[in-house]
Amino acid sequence: MIRKNPAFENLAAGYLFPEIAKRRRSYAAAHPDAKLISLGIGNTTEPLTPYITAAMKSYVEALGTAAGYSGYGDDSAGEAPLRAKIASVLYGGLVGADEVFVSDGAKCDVGRVQQMFGAAVSVAVQDPAYPVYVDGSVMVGAAGKMPASAAGYADVTYMPCLPENNFFPDLSVVKPDSLIYFCSPNNPTGAVATKAELRRLVDFARANGCIILFDAAYFAFIRDPSLPKTIFEIDGARECAVEINSFSKPIGFTGVRLGWTVIPKELRFADGTPVQTLWTRLTNTFFNGASNIAQAGGLASLDPEGLAEMRTLTDYYLENARLIREALSGANFTAEGVETYAQGNAPYLWVRFPGRKSWEVFDAILDRCRVVTTPGAGFGPAGESFIRFSSFGHRSAVVEACDRLAQLKL
Ligand SMILES: *Cc1c(COP(=O)(O)O)cnc(C)c1O
Repeated sequence: MIRKNPAFENLAAGYLFPEIAKRRRSYAAAHPDAKLISLGIGNTTEPLTPYITAAMKSYVEALGTAAGYSGYGDDSAGEAPLRAKIASVLYGGLVGADEVFVSDGAKCDVGRVQQMFGAAVSVAVQDPAYPVYVDGSVMVGAAGKMPASAAGYADVTYMPCLPENNFFPDLSVVKPDSLIYFCSPNNPTGAVATKAELRRLVDFARANGCIILFDAAYFAFIRDPSLPKTIFEIDGARECAVEINSFSKPIGFTGVRLGWTVIPKELRFADGTPVQTLWTRLTNTFFNGASNIAQAGGLASLDPEGLAEMRTLTDYYLENARLIREALSGANFTAEGVETYAQGNAPYLWVRFPGRKSWEVFDAILDRCRVVTTPGAGFGPAGESFIRFSSFGHRSAVVEACDRLAQLKL
């Protein structure tokens, strides 16, 4: 028989969300009458918006005609008008249309980026972090083994992001020539790096031969105008950063699937090869372009009408976040020293329960409130004692969950 790829033998426990689903199922089986509400997984819940839906509908209808049909796109990097509009509308010209590579989503692009760097690259991640960065690094063989202490993969540098450092890491722990994963607004903490902080990150990367993989999937939730929405607002980022981005959270395209990656022309590997060259080679081999229907929707979302819908949709989730925040500021929480970190620029609330374990708090909230959350420890060692509350949900369910939380006896 054939052995599995040995890199997969290093994978520690299963992916976080299947474990949550398992606990949820067994709770539901034991309590068949309990009405569970999920503030757990970061999945969108509100319908596609009218202007964007109409654009996709008419595109589909055209596909059913001889004149409007098209097959594979000319270029796996996406339709030229969409690339140009992303560059002009979302980046204000800070990047060129030929530096925007449209894809079927940010998660898929993280995996492709990891293939470009392979097993030999040093990896640094914010801790806590979106699990894909670390698990993907394991699968390409870059993360090494998980020690028995389960303290984190041997070849991954964890950069703790805690309230104590304002969720911005100490970069001095990062090895030279590392691939640095950085997500802002952050999943799971909701923290957004300031311009000064991103400048420190970019300066560090340039001085140390690092490349930043900047995940900006939550840019559309930023309301504070002083906060940067893209790494390319920082001078020098063009020489050291790749930005991964997505239409999933801004316009509810989690199921439709559309994202993009920005790779500046200046960005090079040690031997001088432009990163764009490898990316084009890789994506032309393994990817035939994003769905043309999804691209029609993405294009519409960047019209004034689409941008207004994007704003309304993200406002809806931000209002949910505000309601959850209010519920968590109740006397039952403050008496226990529970602290909620949320600045109103992300759909997540990051909540510390001092002296408690994440999974224990997860089970307590599930049992007593019938609310599903996400245990912070699942995002990395520094997530222990934290719980992530997601604000993706219908308003009525969120209000009900808030009522239950307000009565929780910890
Ligand atoms: C949801 C999410 C994405 C989006 O991934 P898609 O594949 O585009 O749906 C990317 N990064 C982070 C951190 C996310 O939470």
